[in-house]
Amino acid sequence: MQEVGSSILLSSTLRTVGFTLGGVIAGEGSYHTVATSSRFRDGSPRRRFVFQLAMAERDRPLLEALRGVLGFGSIHVQRPRRPHHQPVAVLTIASRRAHHAATIPFSERFLLPCAKRRQFERWRDALLAYERDLVARGLRGRSRCSAPGCDRPVRGRGLCRRHYYRATGY
Ligand SMILES: [Zn+2]
Repeated sequence: MQEVGSSILLSSTLRTVGFTLGGVIAGEGSYHTVATSSRFRDGSPRRRFVFQLAMAERDRPLLEALRGVLGFGSIHVQRPRRPHHQPVAVLTIASRRAHHAATIPFSERFLLPCAKRRQFERWRDALLAYERDLVARGLRGRSRCSAPGCDRPVRGRGLCRRHYYRATGY
């Protein structure tokens, strides 16, 4: 009974954390696409699908909590443009693999109906259509590094150059 009780407590805690972070995303999150200068071999441009959450740097622990829950993402601090403004911390996830593993399932579960939810759904549908189109044209994107948060092209063993060297020592 003890174990059942504590696992119910854990799942209700996770749900509370999920909806809390979903509320932060509803306010400050952004799902968008970016045109890149990189091209597929048929010359068509690659698009990047980006999820970002920006907060005042003092609220960085919220970004770290979300990154911990999702298991993906990098956090950068932007210096303020004006001296009296706060520095801004930004969590960015731009790997489609990470979106499939984390961004999309998390958002589907914890983003309540609102304008941001509709933005997410359009973005998700555009991402799925983009991938279907790549497959249809025989242009499935290059494999991406499997290290968490990394999105570089694979060099070997499912890892990019940097992570490959780190893993193999050469
Ligand atoms: Zn890597």
